[in-house]
Order: sequence, then C-alpha cells, then structure tokens
Amino acid sequence: MIVKTGLGQDSHKFDPENKEKKLVLGGIIFENEPPLQGNSDADVILHSITNAISGITGINILGEVSDKMCLQQGITNSKVYVAEALKYLNDFKISHLSISIECQKPKITPKIKAIKESLSNLLNLSESDIGITATSGENLTPFGKGEGIQVLSIITAVK
Ligand SMILES: [Zn+2]
Repeated sequence: MIVKTGLGQDSHKFDPENKEKKLVLGGIIFENEPPLQGNSDADVILHSITNAISGITGINILGEVSDKMCLQQGITNSKVYVAEALKYLNDFKISHLSISIECQKPKITPKIKAIKESLSNLLNLSESDIGITATSGENLTPFGKGEGIQVLSIITAVK
C-alpha cells in the first residue's frame, strides 16, 4: 500500500457590507452571519480541502483553474473546485480528513455534525474518517480577532 498526505490551508476576510452573499462553510450555510470576501462563495473549508487534495496530486486548482471557472464560466460553488481537484487522484482513495478551523466567530461546534455530513457526501468518505476541531484564536491573530476565518486541512490517501 502506498500512503500520501496532503496539507492545505486557506483564509478569507469577512465582508460585512455584502448583504447579497451568505456565509458558507464546508457546504453548510450559516444564517445571519457576515459572508466571507471572494469572487466565489468563499467557502474557506472547501478551499482548504481543495488545496490538501492538490497537495497529494500535485495539480493546483485554486488560483488559475478556479479563477477561470469562476470568472469565465460563472462557477462560484466551491464544491465544483473540490470535484475538479478529485479528478486527479487517479487510483488514490481518500482514507481520512482532519481539519482545524480558527475563528472567533461564528461558533463552529454546533455545526460540526452538519459539516461532517456534507464533507462525507462530497468526498465519499465515512463520517468516522473525518475529524473537525475549532479554536477561537484567543484574540491573538486576525482570525482570533474576528476579522476572518483560517482553515488547515490534512488529507490522507491510499493506493
Ligand atoms: Zn479561498
């Protein structure tokens, strides 16, 4: 068996002036919270996961490819970027996902179950193989000060 691990990171600033957009994290809508800035839905969890998949495949999706999908084809749903990254896994199968979220707001813990379910469907991975932790950042970093959200992801894949 060959094992590979991919590390992914992403961060976005809040865009409290934007009343059109909703906060989406891991494919789950958080009602009555400020959205994140970005051309896409700015789903920082899915972007971090996309980067972790790229960490395994070596094929980067966020940046040139996702910008093209977003700006030229109007695809703003980050689930499509994840799906694009998954295409390059070839014979590798994701066996585990661990994500760590840093933000002062919103409260992540009550939504962990829903996010796990969403990621389980998206990645075709059992919920028992997904770990999600969240920290408040203790007012230290921009994320801990409530200016945005940062997410780190580690994906393990096997062949
Ligand atoms: Zn992003």
